[in-house]
Amino acid sequence: MKKHNYSAGPSILPQEVFEKSAEAILNFNNSGLSILEISHRSKDFVAVMDEARALALELLGLEGKGYQALFLGGGASLEFLMVPYNLMKEGGKAAYLDSGTWATAAIKEAKLFGETVIVASSKEDNYTYVPKDYEIPADADYFHCTSNNTIFGTQMKSFPKTNVPLVCDMSSDIFSRQLDFSQFDIIYAGAQKNMGPAGATLVVIKEEIIGKNGRAIPSMLDYAKHVKADSMFNTPPVFPVYASLLTLRWIKEKGGIAAVEKLNNAKAELLYNEIDRNPLFKGAAVEEDRSNMNVTFLLTNPEHTETFDKMWKEAGISGLPGHRSVGGYRASIYNSMSIESVQVLVDVMQALEKAV
Ligand SMILES: *Cc1c(COP(=O)(O)O)cnc(C)c1O
Repeated sequence: MKKHNYSAGPSILPQEVFEKSAEAILNFNNSGLSILEISHRSKDFVAVMDEARALALELLGLEGKGYQALFLGGGASLEFLMVPYNLMKEGGKAAYLDSGTWATAAIKEAKLFGETVIVASSKEDNYTYVPKDYEIPADADYFHCTSNNTIFGTQMKSFPKTNVPLVCDMSSDIFSRQLDFSQFDIIYAGAQKNMGPAGATLVVIKEEIIGKNGRAIPSMLDYAKHVKADSMFNTPPVFPVYASLLTLRWIKEKGGIAAVEKLNNAKAELLYNEIDRNPLFKGAAVEEDRSNMNVTFLLTNPEHTETFDKMWKEAGISGLPGHRSVGGYRASIYNSMSIESVQVLVDVMQALEKAV
C-alpha cells in the first residue's frame, strides 16, 4: 500500500509524476528509447528543457519580464556559492538574514568571497521565528534570505522592500504560494522538496543582474554561461528535469499556484488546528511565522512518544520524525500531499488523545 509520505526531502510527488516518469524510462514519447539513453541535444529532450524553463517562468508570473529559468546540477547548496561568485564585487559586501540551518550554510560560503553582514539572526532562540526588524546596508551587493526554513518550520510571510538586489532560497516552498516574484533578482530551489527528484536545481534569474561583478568566474559556476547556453552548457540532469516538468504540468493543470496555495492553506489549517486543540501536542515555531510546508510540533509529554510512533506507523505514515536539531515531529505537507493524507495524521493524533 502507498504510504502517506511526510518526508522533508526528497519527498512526495504527484502519483501521476511517478507513473509518467516510469513510462519515460521505458519508452520515452513512444520513441522506442528510454529518456535515460537519448542525447540531451536530441529534439525530444531540447523540447523538454525548453518547456520546463518556460513553464517555470509562466507559473511564477515572470514570463516576458526579463527573467531566465535554468535547471542546474549541484543542489541548492551549490547556489550558496554561485550567488556570491556572480553577485559580490571585489571588495564589496553581501547581506544575509540568518533564519535557520540552510541560511547559515549559505552565509558560510559567502564569507569565502567577501564581507558578509548578518542583518539579523534568530539563532539564540533555536530559529523558532523569522527575524523581522533589520536594516539592509544600502551598499550591499545583494540581500539573501530563505523563504521557508525547512528544518524549523518557519516561513517568511513578507519580504523586505529594498533597492538592494533580492536573492531568495525557495527550496522548500517554491510553487506553493502566490508572491510577487518580480521583487526577486534570483530565486533558487533544489528540486527535491516541492518540484521533482534530487539532482536538479531551478534558478530563476533576472537577466540584468548577471555578468556585472568583474570577477573571473569558472564556466560551470557562471550564470551568464548557463543562460547563454539555454541551460545546456554541459549535460544537464536530464531525468530530474523531465520529472520536474511533469510536476510543473501537474501544477498548471490544477489551476496554477493560486489553486495549489488554496489547498496548501487548507491542509496547514487542518493540521495546526489539531496541534493547537489537542492538549498532547504543541507547535515548535511561533504562531505568526508558521510554515505551510513543514509543520513542526512536539508532544507535550515525551512519555507518549513510543505509543504515538507506533500508531502513526500503523496508519501507513512515513517520514514524520523531526530534524535532530528540533526533535519531535515534522510533517512536510508539500504541494502533492493530499488533504486526505493530512486527515489520516489528524485522526491518529485524536486517537492518541483517546488512548492515553
Ligand atoms: C534542502 C534545502 C537546501 C539544500 O538543498 P540541496 O539540494 O541538498 O543542496 C537548501 N536550502 C533549503 C531551504 C533547503 O530546504
